[in-house]
Amino acid sequence: MKLCEKNGVKFFTFENIEKTGIVNHCFSTRVGGVSEGKLSSLNLGYNRGDNRERVSENFRRICQVNDMDHREMVFGKQIHGTKIKTVTKNDCGCGVVFESKITDFDGYITNEPDVVLVTFHADCVPLFFVDPIKNVIGLSHSGWKGTVGKMAKVTVQEMQKVFGCNPQNIVAAIGPSIGGCCFQVDKPVADEFMSEMIFASKYICNDESSEGKFKIDLWGVNRELMIEAGILPENIEVTNYCTMCHDDLFYSHRKMGEERGSLAAFLSLKS
Ligand SMILES: [Zn+2]
Repeated sequence: MKLCEKNGVKFFTFENIEKTGIVNHCFSTRVGGVSEGKLSSLNLGYNRGDNRERVSENFRRICQVNDMDHREMVFGKQIHGTKIKTVTKNDCGCGVVFESKITDFDGYITNEPDVVLVTFHADCVPLFFVDPIKNVIGLSHSGWKGTVGKMAKVTVQEMQKVFGCNPQNIVAAIGPSIGGCCFQVDKPVADEFMSEMIFASKYICNDESSEGKFKIDLWGVNRELMIEAGILPENIEVTNYCTMCHDDLFYSHRKMGEERGSLAAFLSLKS
């Protein structure tokens, strides 16, 4: 993963995703937009109390520096679930040009070019999937609930079911989100992971600074879920940026609470 800067806008891209040659993609930072105060400056959430025009301008900027058209974006209201929607050109503009009617979905897949998939994040894990053989892409939002629900695996299975993708061909990336350094949980959450996944103990440890608390490495769990789904380990790139540790680059829900902006992940097939 590398940090890029273009026209004052900072964003991350993944080398393995870029190397497929068939997509435009990025993960946003808070740098290079027009929002002010606590939302400064590249807030991408229309639901964060920001001025609508400013958010639209931020979308225009982040899309423009990544060769994507912000009018072709597709997004909806995420609910920390694991439902995936197959979207097409007909869904483009959803959320920006017209009000999005898409709710209850936390992931999107498509095989159509110039459909810009967008998911929102502020600590939750973004997952990118590209099948360069079938020309299919997937993007999903996997916070701790989505991760317990095995969102990474669900997304791959949906790509297989709908488009006949072979997981061995899929190139995947795990983007900036709260890291194992900062993601502290209580026992019930740790227990959910332990009961859902046999490998969970590898990614959960006692929080030495806080009695009775645990820390979970969501990147490790998501990577393991991708491998379980059939993706080859060498095809998976994992971030090393924790959103809570780097408040110069990211909004963090854990750190800032409700007074935070939204980051977003973008992925689209080139025409
Ligand atoms: Zn951290």
